[in-house]
Order: sequence, then C-alpha cells, then structure tokens
Amino acid sequence: MEIAVLSGKGGTGKTSITASFASLLPKLVLVDCDVDAANLHIVMRPNTLQESIYVSGHTATIDYSICTHCGVCVDYCRFEAIFNNNGTITIDEIACDGCKLCSRVCPQQAIHMIQNDKSRWYVSQISHGAMVHARLAPGEENSGKLVQKIREEAKKIADQESVQIILLDGPPGTGCPVISTLTGVDIVVCVTEPSRSAFHDLQRLVELVQQFDIPMYVIINKFNIYAELTETICQWCKQQQIPIIAKIPFDTQIVESMIACTSIVDYAPDSITSIEIKQAIHTILKQHGITY
Ligand code: SF4
Ligand code: SF4
Repeated sequence: MEIAVLSGKGGTGKTSITASFASLLPKLVLVDCDVDAANLHIVMRPNTLQESIYVSGHTATIDYSICTHCGVCVDYCRFEAIFNNNGTITIDEIACDGCKLCSRVCPQQAIHMIQNDKSRWYVSQISHGAMVHARLAPGEENSGKLVQKIREEAKKIADQESVQIILLDGPPGTGCPVISTLTGVDIVVCVTEPSRSAFHDLQRLVELVQQFDIPMYVIINKFNIYAELTETICQWCKQQQIPIIAKIPFDTQIVESMIACTSIVDYAPDSITSIEIKQAIHTILKQHGITY
C-alpha cells in the first residue's frame, strides 16, 4: 500500500505532516520524492546505509585538439546549445539536452558525451523502518526518473522486509516529479492551507489526481488563520466528494518541532495538532482496511 502526501503549493506543512505519519506508523518505508529540494531527512535524521550515484543525463564536450571549427555541429543542434563564439565552437552545458546528435555528425569525432553524475540517492535506516531519498544536483534534469528510481528501491525494500506501507512525501506543484510520485499509488493525501494561492494549487492538484482515479483525502493546515476561506475550501471539497480528515490549527509548536528536528507528534504528542494528525492517519488506515 503506497500513500502519497502532496500539496500543490510549497510551505503548507506537508513535510511536517508526513514526518508525523512516519512517526506514528509502526513499520514503513519512507520515501522523499521531493528530489529537487529534499528536506524530510533533516527531520527524520536517518542513519545512511548506502549512497549511490544517479546519472541524470549526458552533456556534450568538445576536444579542441581535433576540432576544426567547421560549424557542422552548430547547424545540427536543435537545442541551440552549440554556438560560434568569435570563431570558437562552444557548448552551452545548461542548454545541452544530451541527445548525442552532434557527436554523431562531427566529421572529426571531436565531440564526446560525459555523464552528469553529481546527483545521489540514499538508503537509510529510521527508527522503525527504512528511508529512501535523493539529491538532484543543481541544474540537472530527469527529476521524474529519479523519483521513479527511488520508488523502485523503496518497493524492493518493502518486499524484502514484508513492510505493508510505503509513505511518499511528494514534491510541490503538478509537474513531472509529481506525476512520477502519483503513478501507481493507492491513496493521496493533499495538504492545503486557507490562502488564495494554496486553494488555487489544491484545485489544480485535485484535477490531476482525479485523472489517476486515486482515492484522495484533504488536510487543512492552519485552518483558523482565515476562517472564511477555510469554509470555502470545505464546501469545495464536499462538492468534489473529497473527505477532509484533519483541520489543524496554526501552531507555533510545529515550528519548534522542526527546529528540534523532530515530528510534532513526538515533540508535543498531546497537542491538538498531534491529535488531529493521529486521527487523520487512523481514518486512512481504517478506510482501507489496514491493520497494525
Ligand atoms: S562538427 Fe566537430 S569539428 Fe566541426 S565544429 Fe563541431 S566539434 Fe568541431
Ligand atoms: S548533445 Fe544534442 S543538445 Fe547537446 S550539444 Fe549535442 S546536439 Fe546539442
């Protein structure tokens, strides 16, 4: 059973809620699918067991000892990544898509492809299970494929260790890494807050999730900072037939727990916030017949 926690907008408290779910589940494999800006490991403080290289793509490079500056490669590059810089043929590494066409058409065989191998993925141990997360190097591409990679590793671990639940902390937005996070999951939890931008992004996210036909729940964080908009979100969720499983008040203890690098349910287990989060995960497990 794979549960993805998502939020269309960043900063809604999604990672805090995921960390709390992870603390409450007795055994799980936890995956941080936000490979562009992973931060769940800061809260979970895992013990790293394995670090692996992720090759995110290739970049063309010119061997100037044999390049004749004929310009053939410039004409063929569809990404305008090769240009004539005052007589020197130059490759823009950021614009290069790694398609390898230039290396094939170069009459001197002066272009080589080098691996983009600065990204990493990790398998770690947390207090009651395993964690898989990754770090995509700045400017590198294929974040969706990296999400796919770490999800595959998580499934292997879950199978090997007979773990029933894989919990995914999704990236913000509705782009490629979110789609990689959603593909094949069983349950989606959308975390939102009563702000115009968060509601707008929730609507976009729900529209996306509905295309995947995955059971969905909503958690409203900081619900009391804008009661009128919270009511609008509740009405909208009702129309969409999406259950709201928690309404969490604005709580400075969440910030304190993050500073203390722990989840709110460990930091303040008896707080209203923790009780709401406990009820939320309990509702999900009960609805889907998962017993621990
Ligand atoms: S095609 Fe080859 S030889 Fe010609 S400019 Fe490009 S790299 Fe240099
Ligand atoms: S690998 Fe493709 S995108 Fe990169 S410079 Fe060569 S032709 Fe252009």
